[in-house]
Amino acid sequence: MGLMRSVLLAGSESRWLRAQATRRAFVRRAVSRFMPGETLEDALGTAPALARERIGLVLTRLGESVTDAAEADEVAAHYLDALEKIRAREVNAEISVKPTQLGLDIDAGRCLAHVRELAARASALGNFVWIDMEQSRYVDATLELTRAVRARHANVGVCVQAYLFRTAADVERLRPTGAGIRLVKGAYREPAEIAFPRKSDVDANYLTLARRLLADEARPAGVRAVFGTHDTRLLRAIADHAAAAGRPPRDVEFHLLYGIQRAEQQRLARAGHTVRVLVSYGSYWFPWYMRRLAERPANVLFVARSLFRA
Ligand SMILES: Cc1cc2nc3c(=O)[nH]c(=O)nc-3n(C[C@H](O)[C@H](O)[C@H](O)COP(=O)(O)OP(=O)(O)OC[C@H]3O[C@@H](n4cnc5c(N)ncnc54)[C@H](O)[C@@H]3O)c2cc1C
Repeated sequence: MGLMRSVLLAGSESRWLRAQATRRAFVRRAVSRFMPGETLEDALGTAPALARERIGLVLTRLGESVTDAAEADEVAAHYLDALEKIRAREVNAEISVKPTQLGLDIDAGRCLAHVRELAARASALGNFVWIDMEQSRYVDATLELTRAVRARHANVGVCVQAYLFRTAADVERLRPTGAGIRLVKGAYREPAEIAFPRKSDVDANYLTLARRLLADEARPAGVRAVFGTHDTRLLRAIADHAAAAGRPPRDVEFHLLYGIQRAEQQRLARAGHTVRVLVSYGSYWFPWYMRRLAERPANVLFVARSLFRA
């Protein structure tokens, strides 16, 4: 792992740094590049312009590692309300939730009840719930959560991370279930015993897994495969592979983060692919923002420039 990435990921876990950074106007200005605002309204406000480009949304309220049950209940209530607002405004938006924000650390049963309730409401409204994947210690619990929710509601998908050695086996287990599977590289700091330390190996594994998700065997089960990456080389390789396998562009779905690789988002949508951007909002943005910086340390320069514009 690069030194800068390690430092930024370590910083993402620092409470002190979070308290400092969130007070600084120049940091807030730099964050706005990736986040339209702190409220659901701000996130929903991005929809009309994106819809004109045939790009949909996935909404996620920032926050993780909730330790208070009442807070987890409030997050669940927030997402229920978000589902209603999405429907009322006829916005093309799904939601993506973090298990630890819905109480996984406090009580797995409570977290399951919350995700079930969200999936039930989403199902009634014709919507879909994505479950984020967090640090490796949560992978088993997150996959079990997905299985348990999907036993009653099919409109649920889970994220899997190409940097983990175990993900190839997890994908093989998930494929026959027909779950939504969002493939990403992985955003956390993981030890070399369980995750590829070299970026080139993560990239190669991503493509191998993407091909498995596009393979003919995945089709009868109805797998909804989504490729969550901004890596143009991978985006093109996946689109080419799918085309060679006779898949129409619309069947190949890409999710990118709001504000990142805008031209690529538009290009994919124009090429006829299904494209959504994950729009994050909320006041708990610091660890999430540090992970975005770690993905591209050149972004630190943007923060520095914002400082001099202060
Ligand atoms: C829709 C979506 C959902 C995600 N959900 C999860 C999840 O549940 N769990 C999880 O662990 N991770 C999640 N991630 C994050 C993911 O794991 C990666 O950390 C992130 O996507 C960066 O990897 P990359 O595939 O874009 O490739 P990289 O190799 O990191 O980047 C490829 C290129 O994309 C551009 N780029 C990438 N990131 C940035 C950035 N921050 N700023 C500017 N340019 C950038 C750069 O040009 C870079 O060269 C998600 C990502 C997306 C897009």
